[in-house]
Amino acid sequence: MIEYISTRSQTPRLSFSESMLAGLAEAGGLYVPSFLPKLSAGDVASMAHQPYLEAAWRVILPFVGDDIPSADLIKLLKATYKNFGHSDIAPLRRFDDNFYIMELFHGPTLAFKDIALQFLGQVFGYILSRKKQKVTIIGATSGDTGSAAIEAFKGMENVNIFILHPHNRVSEVQRRQMTTIDASNVFNIAVEGNFDDCQYMVKAMFNDRKFCDEMQLSTVNSINWARIMAQIVYYALASARVHAMTKKPVTFCVPTGNFGNVYAGYVAQMMGAPIEKLVVATNRNDVLHRFFETGEMKGEGVVPSISPSMDIRIASNFERLLFDQYGRDGSIVGQTLKQFREKGSFQLAPEIMTQLKKSFVSGKQDDAETLSVIERVYRQRKYILDPHTAVGVGVAEEYQRKNSDSVIVSIATAHPSKFPKAVKKAIGIEPELPPQLADLYQRVERYDVLPVSLPRIQQFVRERAWL
Ligand SMILES: *Cc1c(COP(=O)(O)O)cnc(C)c1O
Repeated sequence: MIEYISTRSQTPRLSFSESMLAGLAEAGGLYVPSFLPKLSAGDVASMAHQPYLEAAWRVILPFVGDDIPSADLIKLLKATYKNFGHSDIAPLRRFDDNFYIMELFHGPTLAFKDIALQFLGQVFGYILSRKKQKVTIIGATSGDTGSAAIEAFKGMENVNIFILHPHNRVSEVQRRQMTTIDASNVFNIAVEGNFDDCQYMVKAMFNDRKFCDEMQLSTVNSINWARIMAQIVYYALASARVHAMTKKPVTFCVPTGNFGNVYAGYVAQMMGAPIEKLVVATNRNDVLHRFFETGEMKGEGVVPSISPSMDIRIASNFERLLFDQYGRDGSIVGQTLKQFREKGSFQLAPEIMTQLKKSFVSGKQDDAETLSVIERVYRQRKYILDPHTAVGVGVAEEYQRKNSDSVIVSIATAHPSKFPKAVKKAIGIEPELPPQLADLYQRVERYDVLPVSLPRIQQFVRERAWL
């Protein structure tokens, strides 16, 4: 029977639904499953011809144990993906026989986070109504997570959602996607500070035990295992499909900041999906790239880039990878992260790096390189990349130049219309919003501006959450 354990200790062991609602484990760890279900070569071969929902059911069912019966999981998956703009959910676009783009931006907010957050919304709704429980979700966003979370939880009976974003520091599309949602359980707080202030306020609310219990606080950020689980699906499915065509294992190139998306690719590989390598692609904020080059993880200040959703200093999901690499020994993980907190860096042993490099390679692209990739791909193929996707494509092409027999799937994490300024700078054209968002600039916005003050924000939440 599958159970969920913390990356910092073996106890307590929770069921899937308990770990979902708990979010963070005790002592600051993250929940991971007690074992990984396997995909056999036969599973992979048949998956190549399955539609997305069937593959999703096949991948996810073993992770939820008895908490979601098979027939209910099918219903949840149908509800999750009904509002996607493409029937294939995560379609592959072929550039040539050895290079594909996987488009993960067909969800309601036009970024890959919808694939996991829409699922999380359905699963939360299901578990809460069975337990007759309500929660208050609090999250901080630099843009994409907040809009995807609001879109996933709007109008839900058992959930209030409060999203903090830095006032005047998210893009207009991102802000409007959050603030134009008309639902009585959605509250947008524009904090007069930066993203770190927002995140600090959220952490402080969770650390206030009394407030946390009183408000039944919960979280949807990428530390929630259910998000990883939903992301494993498209790695398994795309590698199965491309493997069926090329007979070669697939290399994924993933634009990364928080290591959430690419970590799901690693899990798919461990489960048995035909994956050769995972290429970690960063922008100028290249903490992860430098880590794979040197073995040293060193948090440094973040510089704003044209791919803002990757401007992250500390990759929280890295902890799950460490846990696996250290033979699932929670005490070493705890020590390593304690050192990181105290000294701002840690160094992994050469044998661990050798092990890691069996799965991972890395690369980076600065803003100028990213713009030139957008320009060139548009000129050659009339295909418009968003700046995050372009970081991945630039790094992927570099990798393929050195590894000419590789088959690459480069991941498109956002629709170009979500980041129109950078795209316009590269090709002189402002990409249009898809039909379902065409009137975004005319919709009425709702949000409250609050100072960086814990008591003021807590008061705001207390007055509005209905429990
Ligand atoms: C969140 C996001 C990323 C980074 O993904 P992580 O898995 O959190 O590293 C990349 N591109 C876009 C468009 C995003 O919204």
